[in-house]
Amino acid sequence: MPSFQSYLKAIKSEVAETDVGQLKAELGSRPGGGAAGPSAPAVPEVPEVPEVIDVREQDEYVQGYIPGARWIPRGYLELRIEEAVPDRDHEVVVYCAGGTRSALAARSLRELGYTHVKSLAGGFTAWKRAGYPFDIPVVLSPEQQLRYSRHTMLPEVGDKGQIALLKSRVLCIGAGGLGSPSSMYLAAAGVGTLGIVDDDVVDASNLQRQILHATDRIGVHKVESAAKTIAGLNPDVKVVQHRTRLDSSNALDILAGYDVIVDGADNFQARYLVNDAALKLRIPVVHASIFRFEGQITVFSADGAPCYRCLYPSPPPPEEAPSCAEAGVLGVLPGIMGVLQATEVIKIVLGQGHTLAGRLLVYDALKTKFRELKLRRDESCPTCGVGVDRSQIQLIDYNQFCNVRAP
Ligand SMILES: [Zn+2]
Repeated sequence: MPSFQSYLKAIKSEVAETDVGQLKAELGSRPGGGAAGPSAPAVPEVPEVPEVIDVREQDEYVQGYIPGARWIPRGYLELRIEEAVPDRDHEVVVYCAGGTRSALAARSLRELGYTHVKSLAGGFTAWKRAGYPFDIPVVLSPEQQLRYSRHTMLPEVGDKGQIALLKSRVLCIGAGGLGSPSSMYLAAAGVGTLGIVDDDVVDASNLQRQILHATDRIGVHKVESAAKTIAGLNPDVKVVQHRTRLDSSNALDILAGYDVIVDGADNFQARYLVNDAALKLRIPVVHASIFRFEGQITVFSADGAPCYRCLYPSPPPPEEAPSCAEAGVLGVLPGIMGVLQATEVIKIVLGQGHTLAGRLLVYDALKTKFRELKLRRDESCPTCGVGVDRSQIQLIDYNQFCNVRAP
């Protein structure tokens, strides 16, 4: 029986090696650092850039990797290589920490039919020692892998999608009926930063539907109560408390930097304001509203789909727009609409599926019926119409526009 040393020597004699200087030069010609897809042309216009595979374990990988490399731990190499590199004639460079595990991996790839496999002599240690740049990956911690496992096992999400959620910044306008379920589900899903705008305090009459809050928090500011509930739900989420009322003077500062806005406002002034400010900043808005037994939801995507002003060019007279306090609302209704809002947000962050942009979904709770209306962009819309420079959108006095007194 051969010793490991003689076994390794035999393998190294039959596996081709490359060194870090050679690999650095080859990667220098990588267009944009991306990996070549399976549909790459047969005769590439640029020299073929090797697929670099990092076969180290997670604790090694998290400390840095060669930019552009794909990480497939040695134990999964044979299982996942076909998906990562479908073309068996494409050049593959395998590396580990020092060059031993990669030599064994290279031999295995050759046995799988890969014709141009090289092992990186000296591995990542030699790469770092040569002073070449490396990237630090964002990876899920063991606690996060467990918490989000039902997400990451979905191919449409995976670790990549979960990391995108953790990096995402979502702003909820209002911590009330719609803001409660949407922010709680977004927090549970691992949206990393949740901003919440609300200047109100918890009232006993809110608790029939605003599940962010609790009986022992009556009189507490809603943003504070929301932060407490969300912290208990998911410590990964940073809650940014905006304890204020959104108006023309602060909207741009508050909205800027968020990836998606969840509009759960309960008045027309705020909806027009959010629409105009978000269009100016090019941030998509997931809008919903509720009235008695009926809810509506759509997405204003800021990229050519209709906006709130296309749907409602002018506000209704105040006497025809009663609030929940005046008209009543079924407690579970905002739950349904808010969860639909959270779903649209997650799809936008993941870049999956088809959002409600250009469609208005109307839910009738009494009949248990969903209806869908097609929305059209109004070419003469003052904020998204033809020829409108959105960067020049001016925020106006929305109380005056809606004929209501300033609160
Ligand atoms: Zn519009």
